[in-house]
Amino acid sequence: ATPTAVMVATGVGASHGVLIKGGQALESAQKVDCIVFDKTGTLTIGKPVVVDTRLLKNMVLREFYDYAAAAEVNSEHPLAKAIVEHAKKLRPEGNHMWPEAREFISVTGQGVKAEVSGKSVIVGNKGLMLSSGIGIPLEASEILVEEEGKARTGIIVAVDREVAGVISVSDPTKPNALQVISYLKSMNVESIMVTGDNWGTANAIGREVGIEKIIAEAKPEQKAERVKELQLSGRTVAMVGDGINDSPALVSADVGLAIGAGTDVAIEAADIVLMKSNLEDVVTAIDLSRKAFFRIR
Ligand code: ADP
Ligand code: MG
Repeated sequence: ATPTAVMVATGVGASHGVLIKGGQALESAQKVDCIVFDKTGTLTIGKPVVVDTRLLKNMVLREFYDYAAAAEVNSEHPLAKAIVEHAKKLRPEGNHMWPEAREFISVTGQGVKAEVSGKSVIVGNKGLMLSSGIGIPLEASEILVEEEGKARTGIIVAVDREVAGVISVSDPTKPNALQVISYLKSMNVESIMVTGDNWGTANAIGREVGIEKIIAEAKPEQKAERVKELQLSGRTVAMVGDGINDSPALVSADVGLAIGAGTDVAIEAADIVLMKSNLEDVVTAIDLSRKAFFRIR
């Protein structure tokens, strides 16, 4: 690339809030033939809200949420924040003093554990229950499948080593996601979704945004491994993400694109930052790079 072409493209990018960290990023972006999208916070709005609660034990809703919130208030995860916010609504008097949680443990990509009022409280996905030796009753499994089909995430709450209920959380897809994915297709760029969330929810979200190729239940290192596999098969891969858990994949990809509203770790790891946090700017970035290199060919 001529330095001038790179400079012009970088300048135009900056004026659109697309921060390109150097000529190499631009050169790689021009060759991209597939883009791996993180789900939560990238394809979805990333602000999950509690939409339903199913109690499976003889426990009142407030008590159930006191346990869940006491454990989750220690977590930074968006799902944890959704649960705490909902618990606050059940205590409108403003008394948001949850019982004290001891021995808090956060299991990345699975959930949290703590001891609350002398009871063991475990909040998270099926995997966390299994690894903690908590049996999942059929009723709970059925709720999970039902919720996943609706593109929601079912979070299991176990109190005293028994499943006490399931919290349903919804994180809607971004309104322009479908349009961006179909536009990329018209540019001969294939889209793939990768997520730590379960297969059911991931497939349902995939249907909403028009992505067929899905990789679910992926830990952060596995996200990076999938990117490397695609590269080994001869593809030039871009990764779009917002979270700490996306940073290994952002580094591995030929081009890492971070959502500006995402975590600092993701922004550091990326080659291109989408300052406006608008998915359409993925198209802007690819388009700019293609134009820059077309001119000098
Ligand atoms: P994503 O890749 O979609 O951002 P994560 O890898 O962060 O998802 O989490 C994967 C799954 O682990 C979540 O869908 C959820 O079921 C469970 N999980 C993670 N953290 C928590 C938490 N603090 N509370 C409850 N569940 C959690
Ligand atoms: Mg994310």
